[in-house]
Amino acid sequence: MGQPTFDNKSHDLAASGFGTRAIHAGHVPDGLTGAVIPPISLSTTFKQTAAGVHKGFDYSRSGNPTRNNFEDAVALLEGGKHGLAFSSGSATTATIINSLQAGSHVISVNDVYGGTYRYFTKVAVGNGVDTTFVDLANADDIEPHFKENTKLVWIETPTNPTLRIIDIEAVAKHAHAHGAYLVVDNTFMSPYFQNPLSLGADIVVHSVTKYINGHSDVVMGVAVTNDTSIYEKLKFLQNSLGAVPSAFDSFLARRGLMTLEVRMKRHEENALRIAEFLSKNSHIDEVIYPGLSSHPQHELARRQQRGFGGMLSFRMKGTLDNVNVFLQNLQYITLAESLGGVESLIEVPAVMTHGSVSEEDRAKLGITDTLVRLSVGIETAEDLINDLAQSLDAAY
Ligand SMILES: *Cc1c(COP(=O)(O)O)cnc(C)c1O
Repeated sequence: MGQPTFDNKSHDLAASGFGTRAIHAGHVPDGLTGAVIPPISLSTTFKQTAAGVHKGFDYSRSGNPTRNNFEDAVALLEGGKHGLAFSSGSATTATIINSLQAGSHVISVNDVYGGTYRYFTKVAVGNGVDTTFVDLANADDIEPHFKENTKLVWIETPTNPTLRIIDIEAVAKHAHAHGAYLVVDNTFMSPYFQNPLSLGADIVVHSVTKYINGHSDVVMGVAVTNDTSIYEKLKFLQNSLGAVPSAFDSFLARRGLMTLEVRMKRHEENALRIAEFLSKNSHIDEVIYPGLSSHPQHELARRQQRGFGGMLSFRMKGTLDNVNVFLQNLQYITLAESLGGVESLIEVPAVMTHGSVSEEDRAKLGITDTLVRLSVGIETAEDLINDLAQSLDAAY
């Protein structure tokens, strides 16, 4: 008289839809209690049945069931074989760059995330890894920058905060022709809107802190690859450098992942409505959103992304004084760094996230004092639009 078994998730999850994968990956009800959501595995160590014989876990830095569950789920959503989680997006970057030997050369897009720029220019360089920063609005412009020792190309698309789109497939071809790997920071799109591995990238990374966790309460990062030799190198470094996330953060990020699809759809719907509203507002000089046909790379965005995401930037008329009055009048939209959470966040890159970029470089990148970046949350769109409208009116 056997009990029926409900371990019926053996069908090909990889072939199912995004939402199904996000919810069901690794979520087999607990054999002991039937718990639908696996309990958080807090133990740092695991009992062995004979010296060196265990069930796949011996020490929690090396491997943890809750973390593994998150890693496998993100890998499945990125279309990759292997996922590795880290204690932050920045720790993910550091671990990947640590896999390069001294004497290696990296090519990075010029408007890369500030922390990544800082790591390349202030840390990696001390370990003998040099980086060249290149404007990649036109992917072919990368070609003259390859050197004999170029091992890695690092890009991010859309870029931050000017939302330029980089042609992943074209950059991958250039990188591979020179025997270099391509890493794509996919934080802004999330795996829901873009899968760089399918466009030729060798590693995709995320600051999980942003959309993947999505609730502004976890700092974490993840890398996904299909290349087993890259995975083994990074897995070794994950354990050796030890920048791993806690089981509790892994649990929260895994929970966040379950609603990624519905959140991203709403982020995008709200962003498009706000972009259209701002485009018609007389206090605004320019709206930058890849989903608008006015965006110079709208067609490329359409081709390589499945949507346009929840990030938009705009240039206000007047000066930083007008911007400050505008920001002080906002009711729901919070003046704060970071992005990708359910709540709308707004910031002024020139004095906040990109304050450490030199004035000259900011000018080159178009990061003026009146450029405002908005991470559109999933609140009711009308409330966000009303909030923006009344604050813009107050600012002039
Ligand atoms: C936030 C961010 C990072 C760094 O991630 P942390 O989790 O803050 O260390 C890297 N890349 C992008 C695009 C980001 O937005």
